Amino acid sequence: MTTQAPAVPSAALPEPPEDAGHSIVPGALYVVATPIGNLGDLSPRACRILAGVDRIAAEDTRTSGQLLAHFGIQRPLVALHDHNEDRIAAELVRQLQSGQSLALISDAGTPLISDPGFALVRAARAAGVPAYAVPGPCAAVAALSVSGLPSDAFVFAGFLPPKQAARRARLEQLGREPRTVIVYESSHRIADTLADLVAVFGPQRPVALSRELSKRFEESYSGTAAGLLEWQAAEANRGRGEFVLLIGGAEQAADLAEGERVLRLLLRELPPSGAARLAAEISGAPRKALYAIAMRLAGETGASAENGDNSGPA
Ligand code: SAM
Repeated sequence: MTTQAPAVPSAALPEPPEDAGHSIVPGALYVVATPIGNLGDLSPRACRILAGVDRIAAEDTRTSGQLLAHFGIQRPLVALHDHNEDRIAAELVRQLQSGQSLALISDAGTPLISDPGFALVRAARAAGVPAYAVPGPCAAVAALSVSGLPSDAFVFAGFLPPKQAARRARLEQLGREPRTVIVYESSHRIADTLADLVAVFGPQRPVALSRELSKRFEESYSGTAAGLLEWQAAEANRGRGEFVLLIGGAEQAADLAEGERVLRLLLRELPPSGAARLAAEISGAPRKALYAIAMRLAGETGASAENGDNSGPA
């Protein structure tokens, strides 16, 4: 005979449905994350909720209609986007209060994260409507998870301003932030933004970039601002697709400056890989970034050949 753990009493919210009877809570709002490129990332729970609610609010009903059709889900769709959200939110909250359930989705990823939904969720919470998160893909978190930059504390700053002067001013402001900064960028502006990055922070700022996360041509760079500019220019395709840019916090930049100072001293005696390893240990700066600097310095002076180092950033 198996014994079951006693049920834990739920806190303020009614118990989530599939944990307790596989039905949708009447009058509840579900905020559902959808794939950012790979359809395999729609969770089974998200599918069940989307198939079970009375109505789905979607940023673009055509885009979401295709996603839902792929999963054989047919529920009434209502458009909720930046231009109608305040007006539609009030009507949707009335429907929720009358006992109808609603799921909120956006074109991709987690709703409200650089996507519509805030006005609806705020109005629903203010009206005492239960709101459940159905977690899943989010490009910012996915990129952070592979960036190699500190992830213990970070700031998500959405999209940078499209005009150069405002973008540089925002970068300067974000550059003082001690935590890792995450921004979204489009293919139209990525080249200009990376050039601004070097102009504002100098070549050595630790940065990372992910493009096309979860898709066929996904790739990520981790290193310095100047290295990123070079990496991106090396292949035409690297200007295409969707991007998440991460900027190492100011403290990490200070570590790197100290790391480079130590590295220059060590390179007088050691090959690049050994010098980078020791400099990283002494300064706390990332070893990979120091190795990239070491290779650049070695290239400038011919030191790599002298020291016979071809071992990489082990
Ligand atoms: N709500 C979404 C989320 O949770 O990530 C973000 C929506 S925002 C309108 C779209 C931006 O997110 C894109 O311009 C890009 O910066 C980023 N993004 C979305 N999907 C991505 C992917 N597969 N790879 C890289 N960046 C992506």
